[in-house]
Amino acid sequence: MKFVPAKPNFSRFRPMRLFTAALALFFALLPLCGCAAQEKTETFTAMDTVMTLTVYGGGNALDDAKVLILGLEAELSVTAEGSAIRRLNEEGELELCEDAAALVSEALALCAETDGALDITVYPVVRAWGFTTGDYRVPTEEELSALLPLVDHSAVKMSGSTVTLPAGAMIDLGAVAKGYASDRAAALLREKGVKSAILNLGGNVYALGSKPDGSAWRVGVADPFGEGGTYSLVLSVTDMAVVTSGGYQRYFEQDGVIYRHIIDPETGHPVDNGLASVTIVCEEGLKADALSTALYVMGYEKAVEYWKNHGGFDAVFILNDASIHITEGLESCLASASGEQTPEIIKK
Ligand code: AMP
Ligand code: MG
Repeated sequence: MKFVPAKPNFSRFRPMRLFTAALALFFALLPLCGCAAQEKTETFTAMDTVMTLTVYGGGNALDDAKVLILGLEAELSVTAEGSAIRRLNEEGELELCEDAAALVSEALALCAETDGALDITVYPVVRAWGFTTGDYRVPTEEELSALLPLVDHSAVKMSGSTVTLPAGAMIDLGAVAKGYASDRAAALLREKGVKSAILNLGGNVYALGSKPDGSAWRVGVADPFGEGGTYSLVLSVTDMAVVTSGGYQRYFEQDGVIYRHIIDPETGHPVDNGLASVTIVCEEGLKADALSTALYVMGYEKAVEYWKNHGGFDAVFILNDASIHITEGLESCLASASGEQTPEIIKK
């Protein structure tokens, strides 16, 4: 038998068929390019910081998130005229709106859990140093000793959504409000069908889902010794909050001494314990915000102990000697590190 190669049948490639095939290919590829979620970005000032929200898809979801954050600021600010927290501080007792009550309740639990390293009643001391007004000054030791008895989160009473403060005591949610706002904004975006967004609430970052191309978000941990805009390392994360507390974020200098905005509730003095910054990575923005402040107050050794005993989060510690230490869960998230020293991995 002779093998006869089949003749190519060119009639199968008629122009009409070619056109139909091209059309089918076009519609097949359409969902991959033409309908890609639209990117919207907005930068605005709220909660005493610059916030940038970038959202993919979800229609007006970005506008809704901004309105939500501004509404939370109006309730949670310690200085804004008529805010729930300012009124509570003025009146000593107040029935709070839902968000303020939820945040005070959760913040008080975190104050207890961190053994008072986080203490929302530190406000009279923070105010004496001028950190909320910008009228910076160094209070006298007598002034601080008179204010310290007011610092006691366990003396704040809550019954339902009514909060009662001891005489003279005042609270400040500055250490937790941005984290709470990021959780609320992320929940709202998810409700609106958003699968991809990056929310930067002034150093409180929330990475929702992944990038539109499916890869993880890359979040930089600021170099506390840099001029700004430089990173000590970059983490790859999805559905995670990444929150940094550091003395470099707000401070003033007097007679050659630098006074930083995070206060040790035990002494009433700005924290100065060898830590340059603490970054917490976990699923909830509120917890990350609370713990970044608290672990910064604790200092490196106690903070590592806290991580070992509690877990549920990871951390980056940058010390004043510029060394970088990361808890073991972050090893796989480390996209790059720019410091001269490679980060030390802290094991359980
Ligand atoms: P953060 O930037 O989240 O670490 O919060 C720092 C802010 O929280 C400061 O600017 C103060 O308003 C307030 N604050 C300072 N020290 C403490 C503390 N030990 N506990 C709770 N809030 C604090
Ligand atoms: Mg905080």
